[in-house]
Order: sequence, then C-alpha cells, then structure tokens
Amino acid sequence: MKYDYLIVGSGLFGSVFAYEAVKRGKKCLVIDKRNHIGGNVYCENKDGINIHKYGAHIFHTNNKEVWEYVNQFAEFNNYINSPVANYHGEIYNLPFNMNTFSKMWNISTPQQAKAIIDEQRKVITDEPKNLEEQAISLVGTDIYKKLIKGYTEKQWGRDCKDLPAFIIKRLPVRYIYDNNYFNARYQGIPIGGYNQIIEKLLAECDVELNVDFIKRRSKYNDIAKKIIFTGAIDSYFDYEFGQLEYRGLRFETEKLAQENYQGIAVMNFTAGDVPYTRVIEHKHFEFGTQPVTYVTKEYPADWQPGEEAYYPVNDEKNQKLYQKYLELAQQEKNVIFGGRLGEYKYYDMDKTIESALNLAENIL
Ligand code: UDP
Repeated sequence: MKYDYLIVGSGLFGSVFAYEAVKRGKKCLVIDKRNHIGGNVYCENKDGINIHKYGAHIFHTNNKEVWEYVNQFAEFNNYINSPVANYHGEIYNLPFNMNTFSKMWNISTPQQAKAIIDEQRKVITDEPKNLEEQAISLVGTDIYKKLIKGYTEKQWGRDCKDLPAFIIKRLPVRYIYDNNYFNARYQGIPIGGYNQIIEKLLAECDVELNVDFIKRRSKYNDIAKKIIFTGAIDSYFDYEFGQLEYRGLRFETEKLAQENYQGIAVMNFTAGDVPYTRVIEHKHFEFGTQPVTYVTKEYPADWQPGEEAYYPVNDEKNQKLYQKYLELAQQEKNVIFGGRLGEYKYYDMDKTIESALNLAENIL
C-alpha cells in the first residue's frame, strides 16, 4: 500500500492529525471534496483583507498546550471577541453583563441588575425544561425578548420552547462590566489568516482536492492502511439508519467602498424580523486600515443533504441516531472518525485540535 494513512477532509482535525502522523514517519494522503484545503477555517484574501468564507472563526482556548501548538504555525494578534447585539437599532453589549444591564434598564450597580432579573425570573417556578425557560431563569424576560428569542429561533429554525436548555449555557452571564465574550485565557486571530496554519500542517503530505471520497470509494478504500474520516459519519454508512440533522448557513458577502462600515467585527441582529443573525466585517479581526471593506451577512438555513453542514443538531433524537452510527463505526477496524462531522459534536477549534492530538497520541 502506498500510504499509511488516508485522511478524508483537510479541516483542522484532519490537518493536525496528518501533521502529527508525518512527524512520526508515516506517509499520508489528504483528500478533500472542496477545491481548497482548510475546511471551514479557510479564508479568502481580497484587497489585503482575510475573509472568513465559512463564518467567523475566533480562536480561543483555556488549554495552554493547544495555544502553544497553534502558535508554532502563526503569530496571533490580540483580538478579543466582544460583539454587540443590534435590536431594531438599539445597541447592547454581549455577553450579558453589567454593560448590557445598564443600557437595558438605565441602572449602574450589580445589586440593581440582580433585583430586576430576580423579579422577572419569578415567572419560572420549576426546573427549566427548555431553552426559553432556561434563558428567562438566567437573565429575565426583557433580555430574553430582545437579545435571545429572535436570534436563537432564527439560528436553529425552531421555537425556543422546542430547543434544549444547554445551548444557552454556552453564553456567560456576568455581574461585572466585562464584554469579553469567550472569557478564555488565550484568544486571538492568526495574523495573515488561517490558511498559513493549514498549509504548514499539510506541507509534507500528498494532497488531492476536488475528490469526494464517498463517490470514489473504490479508488481510495485500499490506498492506505488506515483511514481517518472527518466527513459526516452517517454519509460514510450511506445513511443506513437515516440522516443526522444539521443546521446550514448561507453567506452574502459584499465589498463596500468605505473604510469602516459597522465599527466592529461581529454584530448580532437579535430581532426575529431581520432574516440574518450576524453581520461580519472581516477587516476588524486584524485591525485593518484598507480604504475598502468586506461585509458578510450570515443567514441561518435549513440543511439538505449534499449542502455544507455547519451545526450538528444535538437533540435527543439525533443523539440516539448518532449512537447507532457510532456502534457501526466501532466495528470498522481500519477507519477512525473524527472532527465536528465525524463525531457529530459542536466542537470549537481548540477542542477539535485537542481531539486530533489525543488521537495521534493514542494510535501513532
Ligand atoms: N445567543 C443569543 N443571542 C446572541 C448570541 C447568542 O441568544 O446575540 C444564544 C443562541 O441561543 C445561540 C447560542 O447563544 O444559539 C450560541 O451562540 P454563539 O454565538 O456562541 O454560536 P456560534 O458562535 O457557535 O455560532
């Protein structure tokens, strides 16, 4: 056999694994069905601005090892994500913190904010059963109505009463004046974009683009001793038990002949009647000073098989289905499934890298 590993998908998981394998003397072939490497961290540079083609990617981690790992491949700037929410033109700081509360209620102390939220959360008397109840019990009804309900229902395409409570727990609530969204020890954007990281990770591997493994199994199945599959786990098994659900996204990007469009990289549009969830102004990730700017509206979308899958819908029904695929996966001796799609997990970048490094440690 020509290769030790065939790695299907050149996103962060596949690329980190490939790098680690090559470092340990293995021969790797990486294939990707897209016409570029990098999966969803891929950037396109126009007019000196790195455009995050598949949605904003802001690196953040509490894991020092992972931070040092990525810093081998790029220098990171000091960008701190502190998005604002735009509700019908009213601007609020995120995540929910004293700046948000002060603007919402014209108050100034944590005690005043707590008193208002405690009063509003009285409507929830039992243990929260869904996202709506969880949100109200965390921040009260005003913030729920203006900053959570519309955004969340657009993003997931369902009523907040039909969504699991855990999704909202991703968002911190703080009674201090602090707009740092992720609250991670290490945070930043690679200066010059993400592509250089992937290029360096894959420098010593063979890479083939525009190859869809699922359609070309006969050619690629026996090309390597082992396969690392980072595509959707259900697609590998030809949807034998049915399809896992994902949320899709649609991006509309335009170039504007002005230096500064919205004054921030990420603006969330939280009203239900605005069809997009976010507007990204890419240059602000790298403090750009170009005379032009690129702006992307992000529209949540229903997902159909064959389209790019962005968010796994990790509700009970889908988790059960995933378990069935996982059992099949465990019977495949020479195939290992990894990454957001391979593991059907809402992984951030740092967790993806961590998981690829762990796999490398365990099997190489
Ligand atoms: N969320 C919200 N309002 C906002 C931003 C986030 O209600 O302005 C909630 C929403 O329920 C969403 C979750 O927080 O599904 C996670 O949002 P995040 O922006 O972290 O998602 P990602 O960046 O992964 O797309």
